[in-house]
Amino acid sequence: MTSLRIGVLALQGDVREHAAALTACGAEVSLVRRPGELATVDGLVLPGGESTTIDKLLRRFELMEPLRQRIADGLPAYGSCAGMILLADRIADGTHDQQTIGGLDVLVRRNAFGRQIDSFEERLDAPALGAGPDDPPMTAVFIRAPWVEEVGPAVEILATVSTGPKAGRIAAVRQGALMATAFHPEISSDHRVHQSFVSMVGSAAAA
Ligand code: GLN
Repeated sequence: MTSLRIGVLALQGDVREHAAALTACGAEVSLVRRPGELATVDGLVLPGGESTTIDKLLRRFELMEPLRQRIADGLPAYGSCAGMILLADRIADGTHDQQTIGGLDVLVRRNAFGRQIDSFEERLDAPALGAGPDDPPMTAVFIRAPWVEEVGPAVEILATVSTGPKAGRIAAVRQGALMATAFHPEISSDHRVHQSFVSMVGSAAAA
């Protein structure tokens, strides 16, 4: 079997960290900055960074419409933090002209976790990501992170914060071939989220 080619959108944000995590999970990785590069990938990661900046660059590089089209056609995509915002159909606390790619039937509130503190770590309850009660615990890093405030009927909640004042808040979701996390698994050595996305891409490629 040829290995899966997973793209990392490389306009802004923590591109290298995602590329390294995907490589560690056995995927072939390529960076995506142009429509032609988007056309060659079996799946795409939208990294964390600044969603307003990535939105502007997507439009400037004429990637927004091709990306919307490929996602509508079933391209598996995983968005982390700013990437989660970009995959949301609806956002709160966006800038006045902020657009998203969309695809996930959720309302995501920008900077919701990080109003008081910019960055923190929290334990997750995430059985669907291999972090259930009997599994090794998963610690997630949140950096000025959004949360998912409303989910449509087709959306599966993959992870919630398990302790502290934010307990119960939704930190990861999936809908069909789209997955999003409010946190940054790419900056930890725990690859369960990326492994799960590589499996999603493999299933989609086999179908
Ligand atoms: N607050 C950022 C935004 O709105 C996201 C932060 C991040 O990706 N770490 O895009």
